[in-house]
Amino acid sequence: MLITDLTMDEFTAGLAQTRTVLIPFGSTEEHGPHLPLDTDTIQAYAVARRLAERRPIFIAPPVHYGVCRSTRRHPGTLSISTATLRALVLDIAAALYAQGLRNIILLTGHAGVTHCATLTDAGEELLASYPDVRVAVLNEYQLAAETGRHLIETRNDAHAGEIETSRILYSHPHLVKGSAAEDYPVFPKGILVRDKQRFWKSGVWGDPGKATADKGKRLEGVVVEALEVLVAQLEAGVEP
Ligand SMILES: [Zn+2]
Repeated sequence: MLITDLTMDEFTAGLAQTRTVLIPFGSTEEHGPHLPLDTDTIQAYAVARRLAERRPIFIAPPVHYGVCRSTRRHPGTLSISTATLRALVLDIAAALYAQGLRNIILLTGHAGVTHCATLTDAGEELLASYPDVRVAVLNEYQLAAETGRHLIETRNDAHAGEIETSRILYSHPHLVKGSAAEDYPVFPKGILVRDKQRFWKSGVWGDPGKATADKGKRLEGVVVEALEVLVAQLEAGVEP
């Protein structure tokens, strides 16, 4: 059930079927010269919608902004602060809780380390604030990289490479503008650099040349399957 598309009465009827909601998080961030800025949000929302076709679950409107560190200076990236992301999670979760939802899944398509840590931190605060709430924080990209490892040829694929290019080639082919060269940037160890583009001109981390729509289809499939298992565990009260 996509919350954006429901009427008031449909929302009420949905609560009789499930108390679980998934919030897709993405980013507005450069994804090389060939993929759209919305890539992360597209991926998270795509698997969320497919999951909702397989089981009763509310899908909240996606959050198109995330915390982007290494790509902040690249054209088109619109990064927000960790404080804003944290506040967004807490406010959206509070609103969902007030509407009767109790199992809250934060699914992120943007895999930035600081971004993901902020979601986890906010998730911990939800656990502390609402004794009857269950929370999952899931990294959609990580699920694709791990469960789809057998489908991927690039060893160190991380951003706008084989995985993400395949995913968008499958789900939104009209938004893919050609391909891009492989790249594996190296940042100075431990030193925070102001001009990140100097160390990472291409905005690609991995090999987009190895991407195919078929890989994207299969990757999306394994992510949806993994998600379905995790949601069932959360609903059953399993705390691994
Ligand atoms: Zn991405």
